[in-house]
Amino acid sequence: MPEGPSLVILRESAESLVGLKVLEATGNTKQPLERLPGSRLRAVRTWGKHFLLDFGDFAIRIHMLMFGSYAIDERKPEKTPRLSLRFTRKCEINFYSCSVRYIEQPLDEAYDFSADVMSDTWDPKAARRKLKEKPKMICADALLEQDIFAGVGNIIKNEVLHRIRVHPMTRVGDLPPRKLGDMIREARGYSFDFYRWKKEFTLRAHWQVHAKKTCPRDGTPLSFERHLGTKKRRAFWCDTCQVFYGEGTPPAPSPVVRKAKPASKRTAKSASKPLKRVSRR
Ligand SMILES: [Zn+2]
Repeated sequence: MPEGPSLVILRESAESLVGLKVLEATGNTKQPLERLPGSRLRAVRTWGKHFLLDFGDFAIRIHMLMFGSYAIDERKPEKTPRLSLRFTRKCEINFYSCSVRYIEQPLDEAYDFSADVMSDTWDPKAARRKLKEKPKMICADALLEQDIFAGVGNIIKNEVLHRIRVHPMTRVGDLPPRKLGDMIREARGYSFDFYRWKKEFTLRAHWQVHAKKTCPRDGTPLSFERHLGTKKRRAFWCDTCQVFYGEGTPPAPSPVVRKAKPASKRTAKSASKPLKRVSRR
């Protein structure tokens, strides 16, 4: 799933369309497209994992879901667009495998942009306040909470927790205040690193724990849980340098054989099967 920084890169690429008028709108979305021709694109914005095309009186929200993609001034011949907008000056943008929805409210009313970790108006104090209201939530879930950290996805979650040396199952209320501050700061800090590395095509090379096998700090074999927390997302962490804060020990993860197919490639049927418990190598 594209995370916030990837959407910022899309927004920057789509800036070239701002000010242009829609000539034709097509695609297999069920949303009515008749209102689009003749509308002028006023701005492109992002909120977390949402890409927003602002037409003044209304906006279109694109959510990339798991496999969404786009093409600007070109097309993906093998794919049918969910939404295709042809503009003046022979410009166009095409979206695939995504969710398309109209937003009728002004965007500043519809969205709290201060919750977006990459926004100029990002408000770390508000994030701290919201986290304090959820002391029982584990950190792995908290980082994925879009109302608190809009734009943070699973890769950023795994990498931030390793960077700040916190075990993903630590409850937010058990975090020392300094670590809570680290989590909030690095949710944004890592997102900007992600953005820079993605543009350099070096993002994967910088992963420390996400989809990795050993901790680069201390060589410990990483622990892995396929569906961690209420968000049920893949988690990778190091039991040596990522500290579990709180009483007792974290529940034992269910180690699985490495090189299992990524969740995205599994079929709906296989995804629903319980995972076999096997010992970690
Ligand atoms: Zn480690």
